[in-house]
Amino acid sequence: MRYSRMLIPTVKQVPADAEIASHRLMIRAGLIRKLASGTYTYLPLGFRCLQKVINIVREEMNKAGAQEILMPSVQPIELWQKTGRDVDYGQTMAKFKDRHGRWNVLAPTAEEVVTSIAASEISSYKQLPINIYQISFKFRDEFRPRFGVLRSREFIMKDAYSFNADAESLDETYKVMYDTYCRIFKRCGLNYVIVEAESGEMGGAGSHQFTIPCESGEDIIVYTEDNSYAANIEKAAVDPLPKAPPPANAEIPAIEEVHTPDVGSIEAVCAFLRQKPSDMIKTLIYTTGDEAVAAIVRGDHDLNPEKLTQSLGGKHTELADEATIEKVTGAKVGFAGPIGLKMNMPLIIDHAVAAMAVGVTGANKTGYHIKNVVPGRDFPLEGGNVIVADIRNAVEGDTYDGKKLLFKRGIEVGQVFKLGTKYTDKLGVRFLDENGAEKTCTMGCYGIGINRIVASAIEAGNDRNGIIFPVSIAPFEVIVTSVNQDDEKVAQVAENIYQQLLSNGVDVLLDDRVLRGGVKFKDADLLGIPVRVTVGRRSVADGNVEIKLRCESEGIKVAIEKAADKTGELVNSLKEKLN
Ligand code: ATP
Ligand code: MG
Repeated sequence: MRYSRMLIPTVKQVPADAEIASHRLMIRAGLIRKLASGTYTYLPLGFRCLQKVINIVREEMNKAGAQEILMPSVQPIELWQKTGRDVDYGQTMAKFKDRHGRWNVLAPTAEEVVTSIAASEISSYKQLPINIYQISFKFRDEFRPRFGVLRSREFIMKDAYSFNADAESLDETYKVMYDTYCRIFKRCGLNYVIVEAESGEMGGAGSHQFTIPCESGEDIIVYTEDNSYAANIEKAAVDPLPKAPPPANAEIPAIEEVHTPDVGSIEAVCAFLRQKPSDMIKTLIYTTGDEAVAAIVRGDHDLNPEKLTQSLGGKHTELADEATIEKVTGAKVGFAGPIGLKMNMPLIIDHAVAAMAVGVTGANKTGYHIKNVVPGRDFPLEGGNVIVADIRNAVEGDTYDGKKLLFKRGIEVGQVFKLGTKYTDKLGVRFLDENGAEKTCTMGCYGIGINRIVASAIEAGNDRNGIIFPVSIAPFEVIVTSVNQDDEKVAQVAENIYQQLLSNGVDVLLDDRVLRGGVKFKDADLLGIPVRVTVGRRSVADGNVEIKLRCESEGIKVAIEKAADKTGELVNSLKEKLN
């Protein structure tokens, strides 16, 4: 391709909402343009990157024996009602009514559709296992689309689904997908970290996320110093804290109600009562279906809704609305506590609360708190309705398995799940086994965010001059920069090298614009093309060109006749590193 003919609108200015490097650089390098909040057009160079990622993903999926299909993105809501996910997805799922008054969903994922296909097409063990995938648009009405294409509303996902005869077969497919993901991310030039992930309502059978460590990531990776354990914070387990010793030289007096007018937040109560957040016992009211539960964590800790769900045997939980909170506590929001709730309901108590010697809690009475609260004395730590469990996020200072926990941020680029029979049960995917007995298929699903791969590669590879792309997903492998395009001889040498590279199968861009060298170098750096061949008047007079890697500051001089071959070698050696 010739630069002069391509739409590569590089710009200096970036919009104010471009907070992170990949977002800024994708706009500056002319890869994307924003249409509306969370939706982007991919211009020619951006689309080339996407295509390269898609090709790698497709090649590896096919190698793993998966079969590509394509499912509709507009799906009847009835299908989602069968699994209850029309409700679970909440407002993230976009819906519209068609001209006949029927509700449709813009697919945020495709478990329901693929499972309904399996229900009608799979009937025998002979068809199993099967792994089918698609690469297609997904739409999620994200609460806060941001970071350019990292969290957009419309994006391209590779989503694969396996149907297996039993748990053992699912384990095998899961392992194949896990290994395939390792190859995909390596080929895309990403340094990934695999973490244990929460499967939430999907069921507890297991899940891993593939994450790219980087400051701008929205996920928090929790790991032990020796790297023997790594998990997403949504999942990361913590050791229970040792029981705090009772305060010295005094017995803890009986509980005492204190008037705390106009203070609702933990910070405000602490300031008012001169307490530390870690002395507070925080009570959050959640609902599971029609039932309310009280989740109790220390004031300085954050409740982990995924862990809460797990402690309740996987039941979907949601923060209760104001009316429910007032009904069960008898007080306005901000004054809940484990003592004197108006309704008998499960108390899910975090280990760290159980380990407290004494604390302050809401009095279930508007404007009041209770002090001198001793867990186990003033509210139960065992018994029918009480569960003491790990229901909070890990924090600095926690350990797991006796080892110190460390934290870093990361971007989730892919996730694999063992789903079990959640979908196949509800949508009836049954088959006859070897003995003619009817069984339900077990299922796995495996997702990759195509756009996120491009953005996270840029997040991981950039400097002040622009992008540094891995060769495998760069829009071009090589740019031939003709510095004096108005000089016929120079233009001819550049053209010859360009033609040779093309015929050697190298993906090359010829910068044939009549512009100053400095401007062209700046653009080449900004675009992040891994190899640059520079042809200028002086070097041509000497019979040389310069070949330079984007990731290095110095280039090498190579005789004009050898330039194409040497460039090809360099490209190959860059590629080999990713294999
Ligand atoms: P997140 O936790 O970041 O919202 P998710 O866990 O909901 O993502 P999955 O349902 O696991 O996402 O989707 C599979 C993959 O699709 C993710 O690993 C991610 O790479 C990509 N993806 C998900 N949401 C978005 C989005 N809003 N924009 C771009 N890519 C996304
Ligand atoms: Mg995920």
